[in-house]
Amino acid sequence: MLKFENVTKRYVDGTVAVKSLNLQVAAGELVVLIGPSGCGKSTTMKMINRLVDPSSGTITVDGKDISKVNPVELRRNIGYVIQQIGLFPHMTIAQNAEIILKLKKVPENERSKKIDELLELVNLDPAQYRDRYPHELSGGQQQRVGVIRALAAEPSIILMDEPFSALDPLSREQLQDELSRLKKTIKQTIVFVTHDMDEALKIADRIILMKDGEIVQADTPDRMLRHP
Ligand code: ADP
Ligand code: ADP
Repeated sequence: MLKFENVTKRYVDGTVAVKSLNLQVAAGELVVLIGPSGCGKSTTMKMINRLVDPSSGTITVDGKDISKVNPVELRRNIGYVIQQIGLFPHMTIAQNAEIILKLKKVPENERSKKIDELLELVNLDPAQYRDRYPHELSGGQQQRVGVIRALAAEPSIILMDEPFSALDPLSREQLQDELSRLKKTIKQTIVFVTHDMDEALKIADRIILMKDGEIVQADTPDRMLRHP
């Protein structure tokens, strides 16, 4: 479980980006942070992997105060998927995934099978895509590889910061569907940032609506639709 207790972030210039935030995310839950630009979504995300530290308050993961965890260690347990995933262009898809498995110390003789499983998980036929290079994939397919890389590390939490925003509408919808499907087979907690309410309604277990650094509404998509 991921828990924010009374978390405030004041940047050095005095901007208060997040105000007394209280939020609990259950293990395996997919929460979507949504709200206008500048409402504190990125700051909230960045505090989870300690790219930014709170000015006050506590963030715990499974009861452990993350301010006491080495940031490098912490990030090993937190997957991160962003708009520009940055696959290595000179490496094949399999090689791009393998680096993560290597880091994770998965034995060499198990890696190939694991890569195939991961590719299948995100609907990429291993026979067809393993040995392709990133530029031979569509934007949506590259994002799928980004998701694979996040999953390969077997983190307990995956942060997704507008991962589909750069895609065309059709690919975007496809990936939303796939994420919903994938969510049923994986155990990770997912925190997903978007400014697109349709996307949030489609994929979220719970939607956290933020404004001026505060949560103004937190509800399931169903209830959000009934009580906007
Ligand atoms: P969002 O992701 O919802 O657009 P952010 O968390 O990026 O919101 O920003 C929240 C507020 O904090 C904004 O007013 C933004 O300008 C400000 N902010 C973000 N990062 C910094 C920073 N490093 N220094 C000062 N202010 C910042
Ligand atoms: P994002 O929404 O992905 O964080 P931004 O364009 O908001 O991207 O911010 C880019 C970088 O600039 C981030 O590291 C953010 O923390 C920082 N930043 C954002 N707003 C401010 C600000 N008002 N003052 C200083 N740094 C900022």
